[in-house]
Amino acid sequence: MRAIVIGAGMFGASTALQLARSGVEVTVYDHGHPGKATMAGAGIVCPWATQVEEPKWYEMYAAGARFYGDLVGYLDAQGERDLGYRKVGALVTSENRADFDAAGARIAARVKTAPEAGEVQLLSPAEAQAKFPVLKGDLPAWFLPGGARVDARLLSAAMLRAAVALGARYHSDYVTLERREDGVILRDGQGARLEADEIIVAGGAWAAQILAPLGIDHPVKPQKGQIVHLRLNGTATADWPVLLPMSSYYMLTFDDSRVVVGATRENDSGFDYRVTAAGQAEVLGAGMALCPGLAQAELIETRIGFRPAGPTIKPIFGRVPGIAGLSVANGLGAGGISIGPYAGKLLADLLTGAPAEQDLSPYAPGA
Ligand code: FAD
Repeated sequence: MRAIVIGAGMFGASTALQLARSGVEVTVYDHGHPGKATMAGAGIVCPWATQVEEPKWYEMYAAGARFYGDLVGYLDAQGERDLGYRKVGALVTSENRADFDAAGARIAARVKTAPEAGEVQLLSPAEAQAKFPVLKGDLPAWFLPGGARVDARLLSAAMLRAAVALGARYHSDYVTLERREDGVILRDGQGARLEADEIIVAGGAWAAQILAPLGIDHPVKPQKGQIVHLRLNGTATADWPVLLPMSSYYMLTFDDSRVVVGATRENDSGFDYRVTAAGQAEVLGAGMALCPGLAQAELIETRIGFRPAGPTIKPIFGRVPGIAGLSVANGLGAGGISIGPYAGKLLADLLTGAPAEQDLSPYAPGA
């Protein structure tokens, strides 16, 4: 079987790798649009604290986090170890006591079926601050040892390299689709016709543009996120846990004294690839209110990503009804670094006829 994957973000790179592992002849095309979500994503992998209750989505979110164990192990065996992945744990806190208690109850119920979350501990404000030294000093926290962070840029590149090592081909190019009576024609950036048995559209927030010439009204839109990277010069932040204050903001750290504060959620943003004064102020304001110790941090950069946001929170993937050989892999929204690798595996299983690990009908295009 020959497959062409359009888009090499979290979803496309994973699908390509899993197809290649199944012996499929894979070619990947990626334009690398400014605002590619995978290049801006924070990298938190900690599903158990989410306030979202949608059961099918949560099932996928939790399974996605569990899948990281397999994926990281597989990549390690292929020599791919530079992923920025670490189980640093997660601190879940809230300024509001009722929200904090509700978070504790929610986490306790969820971790019963998720041993990978580790044993949840209740930390005093001083204990919480000891783990995340810039945090204000009056907040207790739940600590989940299994919470992790990953550098999605490194992970997606590693998945792609692993696919290429198995024979996949990669092109930095912009491709288009055309409708013909007998199916779909794919063209590369020079207009040359490309042949494949299966075409997988993993174009993130741009997928609707790829599918429109086929008469498909794909319901995924860009949701802009501005995310701020700070540096606490001279401070070793690499082992700090992910900080989840039960709001739409969060913090995580990386090895180079970096503290990442996210993020705006701008619906109806279109593809406005600009750092705005309001976006910058919103994120920095939220970050410094929770962590006054960040006030003297160096502002390194603000990244912009367009989350591929569908009409519901659930991802959309599977075969497109009525068009043979065409599939969609999209709608990862704000959870795609967690879900994308696993969803790519589920889609690859579907396309290669491997036994399904779960019922995929809730995620089917048009469902
Ligand atoms: P993308 O990464 O956007 O990739 C799509 C690719 O398709 C792009 O490279 C694009 O150029 C390419 N493409 C499109 N059209 C064409 C074409 N015609 N030809 C060739 N290529 C094309 N998730 C988490 O789980 N945890 C987090 O902490 C987290 N934080 C986030 C913070 C921010 C600020 C943002 C923006 C997102 C965050 N996410 C997080 C969500 C996650 O980043 C996304 O859901 C995920 O990266 C989406 O991956 P994707 O492969 O679907 O899309």
